[in-house]
Amino acid sequence: MPVSEHEVRVLTKRFDLPNSASIDTYLAHDGYQAFEKALKQMTPESILEELKRSNLRGRGGAGFPTGMKWGFVPKESPKPKYIVCNADESEPGTCKDRLLMEKDPHQLIEGILIAGVVVGSHQGYIYVRGEYRYLLEILDRALEEAYARGYLGKNILGTGFDFELATHTGAGAYECGEESALLESLEGKRGIPRIRPPFPAVVGLYGGPTVLNNVETFSAVPAILREGGEWYAQLGTPRNGGTRLFVLSGHVNRPGVYELPMGFPLRKMIEEVGGGILGGKKFKAVIPGGSSTPVLTADALDTPMDFDSVAKAGSMLGSGAVIVMHEDTCMVKVALRLMQFYAHESCGWCIPCREGTDWLSKTLHRFHSGGAREEDIGLIEHLAKNMLGRTFCPLGDAAAMPVISFVKKFREEFEMHLSGRPCPFESKQEPATVSR
Ligand code: SF4
Repeated sequence: MPVSEHEVRVLTKRFDLPNSASIDTYLAHDGYQAFEKALKQMTPESILEELKRSNLRGRGGAGFPTGMKWGFVPKESPKPKYIVCNADESEPGTCKDRLLMEKDPHQLIEGILIAGVVVGSHQGYIYVRGEYRYLLEILDRALEEAYARGYLGKNILGTGFDFELATHTGAGAYECGEESALLESLEGKRGIPRIRPPFPAVVGLYGGPTVLNNVETFSAVPAILREGGEWYAQLGTPRNGGTRLFVLSGHVNRPGVYELPMGFPLRKMIEEVGGGILGGKKFKAVIPGGSSTPVLTADALDTPMDFDSVAKAGSMLGSGAVIVMHEDTCMVKVALRLMQFYAHESCGWCIPCREGTDWLSKTLHRFHSGGAREEDIGLIEHLAKNMLGRTFCPLGDAAAMPVISFVKKFREEFEMHLSGRPCPFESKQEPATVSR
């Protein structure tokens, strides 16, 4: 991992230690202190208060306040309650949860345990994306260590609290990162989304109340309980507490995963953290939060990178994957590449997404191969706008929103591709661009 002087290392503070994934390293550097505090000195209500004070918002993409989300789980339930960690990191451009699991798996386990204490759950699962199979060995070893040292299992630390935790792998479907599809898949069924409400906090895994959060969200919880909610909140901006792992990729000199305070300016991220644009070229555009978020142009470079400010600028902070593109990038080709991904990953459950992504992919291909007609620009907009809000899960919107933004902000590039004209950017392309 490249490092930057601008980083504030809270979640990544143990990453550079030898054997950072082992329980001995973890225990020697504040490990499981927050869990012990939660078990022995705090009540579920006081933990929730601390989380609310911290302004921690879900790092999976939606940015929902974590304290509030955990508070939705009913206190009494005739069914068992569950804690599920969404480790199905699949958003193009995003590769930070895998580092959290690889370098500091006990931090994640501790966050899950604290969630168990808060809602009174005794069973958790870490749902790992199929392509991250290599992480299973690391996670399972960490679970074994936690069982052996008495942090998992029966009568934990002599308090009478029981908690079992297990890993489970998906089969490599992007759709299973959607929370309700993940629950279906975890139950052994086809990974298609459920209708909501009811939400998982009330009716989740096996019909029981379920806390479902992303790896980065759970990993942030131990530091909040150890250092206090106010301390965490002041690291970021109002309503956007703490730090975030930003995945900086594309045309920058130093791509990498950087832990920066919420609200860190986008321009500074590209110029100082990322070392500026590759080859001294001019900046053209940036996708600020993973491939499902609308593209931003130079007028948005002074945006602070927090949920509210990026929304105000017309996009979303999403998964924190910042994909930078320079002047030689063909925006039609980027739109096509993204749409091919969504057409491939659509689960096919509902028509606007299943048909819409396929038609958009075909139409964008026609553009890029020089066979498009003038009216095809309007057709792309029409198709994409008719998907918005009309699909069963957010994948339909995730596919439509970026395309609408590409046409709106780079219409002239679509016009440059009309009828028989070769792609004006093709001769300028370099190998290895968007991810490395
Ligand atoms: Fe499946 Fe797409 Fe419909 Fe979601 S929007 S349920 S991914 S077809």
